[in-house]
Order: sequence, then structure tokens, then C-alpha cells
Amino acid sequence: MITRTATGWHTEDWQIELSGVVRTVEDLWQALELPLEQLPAALAAHKDFPVRVPRPFLARIEKGNPHDPLLRQILPVAAETLPAAGFVADPLGEAQARRTAGLLHKYQSRVLLVLSGTCAINCRYCFRRHFPYEDNRLGSDELNQIAAYLASHPEVNEVILSGGDPLVTSNLRLAQLVRVIESVPTVTRLRIHTRLPVVIPRRVDQGLLHCLADTRLQTVLVTHSNHAQELGDEFDLAMNLLKSQGVTLLNQAVLLRGVNDDAATLVALSERLFSAGVLPYYLHLLDPVAGAHHFDVPEAEARTLMQAVHTALPGFLVPRLVREVAGQPGKSLIDLQLA
Ligand SMILES: *Cc1c(COP(=O)(O)O)cnc(C)c1O
Ligand code: SF4
Repeated sequence: MITRTATGWHTEDWQIELSGVVRTVEDLWQALELPLEQLPAALAAHKDFPVRVPRPFLARIEKGNPHDPLLRQILPVAAETLPAAGFVADPLGEAQARRTAGLLHKYQSRVLLVLSGTCAINCRYCFRRHFPYEDNRLGSDELNQIAAYLASHPEVNEVILSGGDPLVTSNLRLAQLVRVIESVPTVTRLRIHTRLPVVIPRRVDQGLLHCLADTRLQTVLVTHSNHAQELGDEFDLAMNLLKSQGVTLLNQAVLLRGVNDDAATLVALSERLFSAGVLPYYLHLLDPVAGAHHFDVPEAEARTLMQAVHTALPGFLVPRLVREVAGQPGKSLIDLQLA
């Protein structure tokens, strides 16, 4: 049910949903009536990376369907606990890109701030599932260091808020951070990478809209949705509200075995995003993070898939197929080699 369409949502609307996330295997099993024989393996995987599922996302999962594409993304399974060659804790070499606490500078014109250690949802394929978040808390000393870093790097014109999920952070803290970033004249753009508007759309509350409207920076919000089934009426409303504040809306997805590894699903995702006013940006090949190898789709197969997507859609709805290679100056584009 949609409420408060005229004015947007209030903070308590999403904070209740955030504090009520499902965070035990037992609750997940009960809510979705999952097979009991898979419970021990789930408990083992949960110890390594805990279950976390917001109720609005849970409500979009079909009960009793083991192949549900949303279920696959949040279900801890036995495969996670098995080692796989080439799948490691820090696949992107992010430890090397750290400049000050919470600041990664890998690509020339933009820096990435790891704002929050938590997410509303824990995605089993997450490349930051082993990230040492405790070392990256941003207090006022850290904010000063970030401002100093930006001031001494005029080639950086864009600051990306990432995480964890940066929108787990309160509006008050976000607004403080925006003040710090916009105090550096060479920075012109603020980009937020977040899955929250997908899994708890009410996060797009009045305070957030105000924060994004009340800055000289140009604002871009990159949602993270992997499947059209994740997106409902509340997502549409959230995107509308952001658009009304002049925020540019993009989406990135990850190509995931058993979730979105067929052309029809990817086409449907692009069409669904555009109906909400969002353009597809990237489709990432899976980062080889330990515990996620069961989601991997080989590059040759990804290319074939994307050729079919390219045939079915106008160019502006075809996301760029990329992979992240440690040490490269940008994401590596994968050529579709159309015949
Ligand atoms: C992905 C990424 C960016 C942004 O790359 P774009 O191609 O501009 O989207 C910036 N910094 C880091 C560390 C990244 O991983
Ligand atoms: S929301 Fe993003 S950062 Fe958080 S667990 Fe999912 S993929 Fe990882």
C-alpha cells in the first residue's frame, strides 16, 4: 500500500522497516517455509556472513519456490562454505586503494567513500562481504582528512558514497557529509550507490530529498537492482520523488547465475527500470569473492547473453557489460563483438 504520496515518506516509516529486518536463519525459514534439510548448511554459511533481509523484499519472494530469483540472492547455502580456486577475500585489491580512513581513490576523477559498514540486506554475492569495515568509521577527524584529501586533489570532481549502503546513514549525517564535500570547490558531483530504494523504497524520505535538493553539487543516484521482480509501486514512487529534485537516476546490476542469467530477464529489468525513470548503467560480471562462486557466469556466456539483449532493446536501455580488474584505471568494458 502506498501512503503519503503527496508529501513523501517520513523517517520513522523506513526506520521501522530497517530495524525489523529478518536476521536469523530460523526466522527466514519460518517466513518462507523453506525445506528443513537445508537448514544446517544455511546456519554454517550464516556464521561467515549473516542473513539480513528487509520485510518489503521478503514479501516479493514466492513462498515454496526454491528457484525464486530474489530468494537466491539472500539464501545462505552450502556452496558458500566450499573453497573455489581464484575466489578470494579482497578480489579488487581495495586495501591498496585506501588513502585515508574510508576513502578509496582508484580512478582519476572520482573517489569512493565507504560510508557505512552495514546494509539493509546482505546479498550473498557481495564483493565486500569480507571488508574490514571497523577500520573505516567516519568521525569528525576522518571528515577533515577527507576534505583535505579532496582539496589537494583537484583532479577529483566527483565523490561517490558507497558502503555498505550509504543510505543506512541518517539524513543528518549525510547532510553533514554533503557540507564537507561541497566545501571543496573542485568537486562538482555527488553520486550515491545504494540498494536501499530497491529493498526499502521508503528510505527516500522527505529529509533525504531535502538533503539532495539543498546542495550546489549535481546529484546522481545509482540504484542496485538485479531483477524486475524486486521493483514495485513504492520503488516507482521513490524514483519519482528523486526525479522531482533533479537527481539523475541510473541502475547497476550484477550478472548472477540462477537470478538474471538469461536475456529475457535482463530485457525485462531494463524495461522495468525505464518505466520508473531509471537508465541501466552497468551490468557487472561477478567479482571473484570467496563464498560466491556458485553465482559465477563465464565471460563468453555473458557476451552471448548481451548480444541478445542488444538485439532486443534500444541502445539506451543496454547496460555496459563490465568487469572490475584490480589495478586498472577504470572498469574494463567487455566487447560484445556483434556479428
Ligand atoms: C566502480 C568504482 C568507481 C566508479 O567507477 P565509474 O566507472 O565511474 O562508475 C570509483 N571508484 C572505485 C574504487 C570503484 O570501485
Ligand atoms: S547492498 Fe550492496 S554492499 Fe550491501 S550486501 Fe548487497 S551488494 Fe553488498
